[in-house]
Amino acid sequence: MKIAIIGSGLVGATTAYSLVTEGVGRQVVLIDVNRERANAEAEDIRHAVPFTNPLEVMAGDYQDLTGARLVILAAGAGQTPGEDRIAPLRRNAEIFAEIVPRALQYAPDAVLLVATNPVDVMTHLTVQYAASCGVPSQRVIGSGTSLDSARFRALLGRHIGVDAHHVHGYVIGEHGDSEVLAWSRVTVAGMPLKHFCHQQQVRMDELVRDRIEGQVRQVAYRILEGKGATYYGIASALTRIARIVLHDERAIMTVCTAKQDVAGVNDVTLSLPHLFGGPGIISTLPLPLVPDERQKLAASAQKIRGIIDLLD
Ligand code: NAD
Repeated sequence: MKIAIIGSGLVGATTAYSLVTEGVGRQVVLIDVNRERANAEAEDIRHAVPFTNPLEVMAGDYQDLTGARLVILAAGAGQTPGEDRIAPLRRNAEIFAEIVPRALQYAPDAVLLVATNPVDVMTHLTVQYAASCGVPSQRVIGSGTSLDSARFRALLGRHIGVDAHHVHGYVIGEHGDSEVLAWSRVTVAGMPLKHFCHQQQVRMDELVRDRIEGQVRQVAYRILEGKGATYYGIASALTRIARIVLHDERAIMTVCTAKQDVAGVNDVTLSLPHLFGGPGIISTLPLPLVPDERQKLAASAQKIRGIIDLLD
């Protein structure tokens, strides 16, 4: 099965490498305006193949998207230190207006997976561009808060001494500063977090929650300060999503999709737990939130809608 990646920068190339090391798909095509970069990345990643999995990795043009099951969109300007995720928006919107229709011309049946930031707004735009090519919104998935939820679960797991796979928790809303950690919905072994901690005599007070929440929110900024970009975590998240789509796994993750209404905000794209698989999004699973979380989700939706309005 063929996966195409448009934008062979740090995120795109690292994702291609991750697909190879994880053995997801059969063929990976890298596309970039900077063809030399795409060629070099493909060549470099090909050298990992003999040590990992037998995938074919190539740099290509849009015609090479023919037959792709999944197209990952990672093109565009990244966030630079000190810049929020909104700043590169206009640059990226223009790029997507060009690349989405071109990709769908050659891969009309593909699922589109958006990574470019601000990912909620870029996914919203991708849905619009795809709709003008006759592609339903269910076939457009944004990586959303998949990485934030993973960080949340990892930090919680470390604190309570449980493997993160067995900690269920969700970060919803914007992939950004207004994201909402749905503390009231965290469960471990079928128990609400509070009960689990009480039963296991693990400290879980406001101080601990603030520390974990701060780490989930601030870690991307810290990485950007330290090395100028983030790409390993997102590459793993994209690889996981690719596997779910290619194998029609029907998994649940907090990816972002276009919604008609979220907490009273119309026509907005943000992350909630979604069931998805081969055809793309299968359904949205609304979380029964406590009033404070509901208010924060509404504020997050409002923020994203405000940015979309600015762009309009
Ligand atoms: P990068 O600058 O390393 O790579 C971007 C690539 O896009 C470049 O190689 C550039 O040549 C290419 N490009 C630009 N215009 C193009 C076009 N019209 N067609 C094809 N390719 C084009 O940036 P990066 O670090 O790889 O980040 C890529 C995007 O991913 C950024 O928007 C970044 O903010 C985002 N990102 C998202 C997450 C997330 O959680 N969703 C995490 C990290 C980064």
